[in-house]
Amino acid sequence: MDRMKITDTRLFHSVPDSACCDLHVHTTASDGSESPSRLVELARTIGLAGIAVTDHDTVSGIPEALEAGSRLGVDVLAGVELSVIPPSGNMHILGYGIDISSPELLALLEKVQKARAGRNARILELLRSAGCPLKVEDVERVAGGGQIGRPHFARAMVEKGHVSSTGEAFARFLRKGAVAYVPKAVIGPKEAVDILHASGGAAVLAHPVTLKCPTTEELERIVADLAGSGLDGIECYYSEHTPSFTQTCLDLAERYGLAVTGGSDYHGAAKPAIALGKGRGDLCVPARCLTEIRKRAKERRDRR
Ligand code: AMP
Ligand code: ZN
Ligand code: FE
Ligand code: FE
Repeated sequence: MDRMKITDTRLFHSVPDSACCDLHVHTTASDGSESPSRLVELARTIGLAGIAVTDHDTVSGIPEALEAGSRLGVDVLAGVELSVIPPSGNMHILGYGIDISSPELLALLEKVQKARAGRNARILELLRSAGCPLKVEDVERVAGGGQIGRPHFARAMVEKGHVSSTGEAFARFLRKGAVAYVPKAVIGPKEAVDILHASGGAAVLAHPVTLKCPTTEELERIVADLAGSGLDGIECYYSEHTPSFTQTCLDLAERYGLAVTGGSDYHGAAKPAIALGKGRGDLCVPARCLTEIRKRAKERRDRR
């Protein structure tokens, strides 16, 4: 890498080309098991060049993560992961470098929180009809004050003895298409990209594998469409991407002028097979991905 071309000098002196970062991690603010500051400590312990905190539909963990980052000397980028109405499979859009007090973002998150509250009540009803009664307090306790999502329903179901594992809870009841599945997305991808830009951030297509496109051509159509809507990047390095799928994503990034990003989707104990920074063991998201996406976010912010 040509270091003279790096415009963000924060990483300039300290980060070797071989360093890794992790641009997709969840905290207790959504459905991860570690607090934001604990996560930053872990990132420092394992020597990551930086992390982006990307909780589902909330930025409530960001201030603590940024504070821990400056206290511990870890480069922390503010992020968020938005669920959008998918053209196929599941589609998530990651926002990076967002201003977490922007009115556009806060209005969206409020709308999403309302939708989630309605969804949570509906999931409880459907679980009851399916023979798995839970009280809302059971789920709230598991969520520990953070935002409630399906993993918390799954854990409450295990605690009540309705299923023997969270995997079983998803497979039989909570996965898309199962009896207690309720969609939650309230916006489409273009709206998500526009709101992230209005919030001074960059928008990235998360884990393209979950779109479940049967062919590369179909994936390319979706990426081309998003690129036309102003998408800034694509999450090429990901715990569940095979080397050949990663290469497909890297090719698409190059073809459409998108930044390359990556992350583990670390959730701590909620997804024990995925390690921070390392995913299933062999992940290393090049540290330059953090520099690049921060640069794209800055360009969006300057253009606002
Ligand atoms: P929600 O935001 O409520 O839709 O929950 C999404 C989270 O549920 C994801 O980030 C995963 O952590 C988890 N999840 C989704 N599908 C599964 C699955 N099949 N097995 C286990 N966890 C899952
Ligand atoms: Zn999650
Ligand atoms: Fe996701
Ligand atoms: Fe995620």
